[in-house]
Amino acid sequence: MFDRASVVTPGGVNSPVRAFRAVGGTPRFMVSGTGPYLTDADGREYVDLVCSWGPMILGHSHPEVIAAVQEAVSRGTSFGTPGEGEVALAEEIVARIAPVEQVRLVSSGTEATMSAIRLARGFTGRAKVVKFAGCYHGHVDALLAAAGSGLATFGLPDTPGVTGATAGDTVVLPYNDLDAVRAAFAAHPGEIACVITEASPGNMGVVPPADGFNAGLKELCAANGALYISDEVMTGFRTSKAGWYGVDGVRPDLMTFGKVMGGGFPAAAFGGRGDVMAHLAPAGPVYQAGTLSGNPVATAAGLAQLRLLDDTAYAKIDAVSAELRSLVGDALTKEGVAHTVSAASNMFSVFFTDEPVRDYDDAKKQDVFRFTAFFHAMLEQGVYLPPSAFESWFVSTAHDERAVERIAAALPVAARAAAEATA
Ligand code: PLP
Repeated sequence: MFDRASVVTPGGVNSPVRAFRAVGGTPRFMVSGTGPYLTDADGREYVDLVCSWGPMILGHSHPEVIAAVQEAVSRGTSFGTPGEGEVALAEEIVARIAPVEQVRLVSSGTEATMSAIRLARGFTGRAKVVKFAGCYHGHVDALLAAAGSGLATFGLPDTPGVTGATAGDTVVLPYNDLDAVRAAFAAHPGEIACVITEASPGNMGVVPPADGFNAGLKELCAANGALYISDEVMTGFRTSKAGWYGVDGVRPDLMTFGKVMGGGFPAAAFGGRGDVMAHLAPAGPVYQAGTLSGNPVATAAGLAQLRLLDDTAYAKIDAVSAELRSLVGDALTKEGVAHTVSAASNMFSVFFTDEPVRDYDDAKKQDVFRFTAFFHAMLEQGVYLPPSAFESWFVSTAHDERAVERIAAALPVAARAAAEATA
């Protein structure tokens, strides 16, 4: 299948990290998923710790989500008009997340962050955007600049195809460094439209914000007339009922969502302060649109999933995450492998270093070759981890005792493989 795919699709995949390039080997083609398990084209079953990169927080094929989708599909798949499902999903988001007074639905996290920074620029009349190295906000041209840490480094495009002009208004700063943010505001007075940050980063591995970091960003933005945008595409509706906002309570001006809120379908959103959202077309002058925005099938899936995510569900996910973190940590300790299990609520990842990881530069210092050996040993034993040392691991309410036992049984061999790996 991978050979077939590689003929008709660049690199054989429709999103790069799926290709296993960071770990080597051939990606598995999955044909079905049930609860915490995925089954590949060769009929092998895996305990899934990727959960479609976050969305499948109830596990695969949850009966109530499937039923909601089937009911919606039976009425048609897209109308290109307003519909009740999108209103209900927007109401659910607004009810859960206090800073969101109004919300606009889109189809991907990339669209959400792209639209949020356009709105911030339109609202403030300013051009520059501050982002942090190691934070991923989708493949938005202006946000694909992550090069260079240090003070107010102007973004160098990370990829051909993004022009210097596009990335030139992006200021890339080291994560968890408020002094760098202060210095950037001082260097560009009246020019910074917004600071965008992952609410709690999961795209350089899991690196939570230091105490007071998000609050400091909020304060600096307010003092300098810029908007504070919290990207909750990954953390939203996962790290608590109200996402990371429910954990740290820092009130952003704008927020972005995706993944969990789509129930496995392409649905995402951005929202926030009513006076800012009022600048969005057709209420205001900042243009934004989408043929499939608020799609009735996607909104039905998302709404069904969110309605099942009550306090009991989050308590269960938190408990499974804690159990796995301690199992992984113990297995690596037993084999003498230097590691740090880093967690933010129920999101976690393992850095193969015992040095503290506070930003992207720290994360890059880990022994990636040990992760590679660990990953393949887990895969061979039927546990599907993210195929990169710089990604969060995800669990779901469906990860029951049997699934945890299967992971626990695979860990000693994988920890040994990590210990024996050579660079
Ligand atoms: N923002 C964050 C924090 C993400 O983790 C991602 C995707 O992983 C995105 C934005 C982009 O979302 P999408 O892949 O749906 O475009």
